[in-house]
Amino acid sequence: MLEIKGVNSFYGKAHVLNDLSFGVERGQVVALLGRNGAGKTTTMKSVMQLVVPQTGSVTYQDQTITRLQPHKVAKMGIGYVPEERRIFTDLTVVENLEVGRQPAREGTVTWNEDMLFDMFPNLAERRSNRGKELSGGEQQMLTIARTLMGNPSLILLDEPSEGIAPVIVEEMARVILKLKDEGLTVLLSEQNLHFAQAVADHVVIIESGTAKYQGTMSELQANPDIRDTYLSV
Ligand code: ATP
Repeated sequence: MLEIKGVNSFYGKAHVLNDLSFGVERGQVVALLGRNGAGKTTTMKSVMQLVVPQTGSVTYQDQTITRLQPHKVAKMGIGYVPEERRIFTDLTVVENLEVGRQPAREGTVTWNEDMLFDMFPNLAERRSNRGKELSGGEQQMLTIARTLMGNPSLILLDEPSEGIAPVIVEEMARVILKLKDEGLTVLLSEQNLHFAQAVADHVVIIESGTAKYQGTMSELQANPDIRDTYLSV
């Protein structure tokens, strides 16, 4: 579904992604793991073309998306939830969802507010509250719910468990597994291996902008050496 091939991305002269290659198959939940600064966020931005790879290609559903404008990438069915929450603080929960609404897209779920309120019961209770009245975890959920209103087939979640209370982290894991049940493909970046183990079936470990390991989560779990080499702090 998504193929990243030989991608090199830079910030000015800083070479951050270094011949990065990996693929994500339809229906998988893939965790992009790696230490602070390994290039996880830059990978997501390079898929969305918010950072345009200098060389290499990104292919989505057999179409090259490298150098497309980011809003066109989103229109093709890739939803992006950045690490920082992006909600409209003065709009209500329902109004925030409306802002994200896009036409139905063939081959994926068409979300509506009732479906999202079933999935995010906390948001249902707060549907008339303004964004600024929500907790951090609720804002994070609202960012995901609003992205789903765009009916993506593939959703990119940048560190979904970061900075939220443990009980909300559990809720987040439940949401990701539900998305998988609904047939969505998920690429998430994580530093929290425990969280990644709860949701992901495949992993890609990156270090210095290069994929060092790719395999199933169970292979990684059976291979403590790899965890120690690339993931321990
Ligand atoms: P984190 O968990 O800290 O977000 P990450 O794996 O997502 O880490 P990136 O945010 O992709 O890593 O950063 C990779 C490298 O690129 C780091 O060395 C970072 O300092 C650098 N970098 C990130 N954004 C910029 C920028 N806008 N300008 C210059 N360098 C940047």
